[in-house]
Amino acid sequence: MAKLVQFNAQARERLNAANTASLHDFRLPREQMATASEIGGCERRVVEDLKNPPVHDDRQRMVFERGHIYELMVDQYLQAMGFKRVTPEEFATAPGPCYVGGRNNQLTIEHPELPIGAHADFVIKHKNGALFVIECKTTDGIPSDPYGSWVEQLHTVMGLLQIHNPDVEIRGSVLARDLNKGHEHEFDGYAFNQGVFDYLVQKGIHLSLAKQGKVDPIPNPGPLCGFCNHREGCPGHAGAVKIPANILDIAEQVDRLNSSKKEIEKELDTLKGQLLEFTGTRYRGEEDGICLTATTVPDSETDYVDPEKLKADFPEAFAACATKKKRAGYTKVEVKPIKLKAAKAPKAAKKTAETAEVVAA
Ligand code: SF4
Repeated sequence: MAKLVQFNAQARERLNAANTASLHDFRLPREQMATASEIGGCERRVVEDLKNPPVHDDRQRMVFERGHIYELMVDQYLQAMGFKRVTPEEFATAPGPCYVGGRNNQLTIEHPELPIGAHADFVIKHKNGALFVIECKTTDGIPSDPYGSWVEQLHTVMGLLQIHNPDVEIRGSVLARDLNKGHEHEFDGYAFNQGVFDYLVQKGIHLSLAKQGKVDPIPNPGPLCGFCNHREGCPGHAGAVKIPANILDIAEQVDRLNSSKKEIEKELDTLKGQLLEFTGTRYRGEEDGICLTATTVPDSETDYVDPEKLKADFPEAFAACATKKKRAGYTKVEVKPIKLKAAKAPKAAKKTAETAEVVAA
């Protein structure tokens, strides 16, 4: 490994350890606390991660870095738009417009009686004192609807803030960014909701008990199952299980695009055939920014050696020529509509129908 690359990898390891340690600032140990991001995620995964902390390699650390990079950007955007950055200690009394959040400046909020807490990505205070929570997410491809885990995390943060600011209006958004494609989308319109928060508090209490081994953790299959180290033996994936709603939505989109792809390919073949009738085997024309060419590769013959025959009849020659080639493994994902077989009408019933027709005629 080049020296600078190794240097950066070591730096990432140190920064990652420091960032993780900075999140352990609740009044109770993390082994008892249910945090907003955990409540929104899979309980079983949280508990298994606690028992066997995952060892992240440098590639994974670079993926985590994307989230930090986005937070740095949002931090700068808020300042550029005139919001004053204040520390978590200053936030309660600072006049708006101001905000707290960003790297090493997140507001830690705890439930006064229960083992539930959160680190808010950003909390903005407007001039009239109203609060606005922003949860930042980086993704490969922005989903059409926000993941349930994102929304639950946002609601938990808003609920905890409301406890400490009972007379203040609290709203929030999930801000998602696809850093590779340069797309950004705001899932907006969320406000504190007592009913939703009560449900999330119950989830938090159960998670805290599960972390302490007092109840069994509940699996919650979702989009992050593919990155989970505890998938093997997970009851959430035993046999043909129900597909979570947000994953089903993606699968349906793939199925729809697959069908249109087949239709488009069929139409392309027809149109290309019509062009070929005009161009013949050789053509080049240009008009209106379109270049139309037809080229032909004539029939030819190549030598082909049957490897099986060579191996059987001339094993020494095969051994001298053969080299082991590495084939990269891959995972295939397929979406296929389930064809429902049309139920056959019972014979007796069919006869009755035929008889009825004769009678009617
Ligand atoms: S595989 Fe999915 S459901 Fe099972 S523990 Fe991991 S995240 Fe949870």
